[in-house]
Amino acid sequence: MLVRAGLHTVQVIGVPEGPAPDADAVVVALKSRTTPAADAVRESLAALHWLRAAGARQFYFKYCSTFDSTPAGNIGPVAEALMAALDTDFTIACPAFPENGRTVFRGHLFVGDALLSDSGMREHPLTPMRDANLVRVLQAQSRGPVGLLRYDTVAQGPEAIHERMAALRGDGVRLAVADAIDNDDLRALAEACADLPLITAGSGVALGLPAAYAARGWLQPDAAAASLPAVGGAAAVLSGSCSTATNAQVLHWLQSGRPAFRVDALALAAGAPVADEALAWARERIAAAPVLIYATSAPQEVKAVQAALGTERAGQLVEHALARIAAGLGRLGVRRFVVAGGETSGAVVQALNVRTLRIGATIDPGVPWTQAEGRPLLLALKSGNFGSVDFFAKALTQVE
Ligand code: ADP
Repeated sequence: MLVRAGLHTVQVIGVPEGPAPDADAVVVALKSRTTPAADAVRESLAALHWLRAAGARQFYFKYCSTFDSTPAGNIGPVAEALMAALDTDFTIACPAFPENGRTVFRGHLFVGDALLSDSGMREHPLTPMRDANLVRVLQAQSRGPVGLLRYDTVAQGPEAIHERMAALRGDGVRLAVADAIDNDDLRALAEACADLPLITAGSGVALGLPAAYAARGWLQPDAAAASLPAVGGAAAVLSGSCSTATNAQVLHWLQSGRPAFRVDALALAAGAPVADEALAWARERIAAAPVLIYATSAPQEVKAVQAALGTERAGQLVEHALARIAAGLGRLGVRRFVVAGGETSGAVVQALNVRTLRIGATIDPGVPWTQAEGRPLLLALKSGNFGSVDFFAKALTQVE
């Protein structure tokens, strides 16, 4: 979102040591969604501390556009801890991402045409979302009063939002869930919130911040902010996500007759040298065309594997194998990777020893190409449910 609107943006994985990279915006990626709240707070405060030392003017706590959380956190506890550290008593909460079908109206989050509580998120293994009323959801995990910044106000634009925020704050509200149903709403919110020390939101609100910063003379958006250097070498797709979208993307790749190797979780558990086999298979092919190596399976197969091995062990076996395969592919000369799956991406990035990513052009909403800082290595890291059905080929075509 930031890059698309002209900000040079770098993402660091975990709280780094030392000085910040040269950029308009720096994103610190934490794995804090489902850790115990106290750990999420500690890590988030460490990130804040480092960003402050780097000279950041404004802070943005980004969470999932499906508001993934539980009554124990971690959205409320982290937001309140950051507010306390920044000595501020008001901010908004807005997961809306209309381009991906996430909208907020009267405080209720919709996924496409369904309320959050009627969407697939209802059955999420870690953060089942069974209430679409975000005021109630956020209140359950926050100490201070949670309020609502209604659509009627948001639609009137930044000045009206400003006034209403002042009134809510006067009433003692500390966190205001903000309605937004399209990008204009997000732009209005961004402009109205650009002077707050802290914004909490999905990635959506960020799309309006570069213009708001430019209007304040803080920076000059650069139309070329998304350009990454061309990188030669081979290309590969690694997929460990079992989401509906990824299953369709893998199927699309197979049906278009492209080379693919399936990683079998049960064979891994039985001790078969699956990673070596995958690499031997890839070695023969990667010079000719990009290959796909996938563990992606349909829900009933995943259930069967999880029943046999345990959910955690199955996940770890597959992640470990895909990480080994990624490192091996790197040694074979693969320089452009498309990776499907959040946890899978974490494992691959670690295996490739990547700590800093420069963010490039958007492939599909929410998924950009990135470059390992200072290295001839491009990565597109796709969280499970994002991307069109032809995402893998589309991504690779963009960096051919
Ligand atoms: P998403 O972004 O779709 O949630 P993740 O990579 O975060 O994808 O999570 C998928 C998890 O499922 C990973 O831990 C992965 O190792 C595991 N996994 C992948 N394939 C299988 C499979 N065939 N059986 C069981 N677990 C699997």
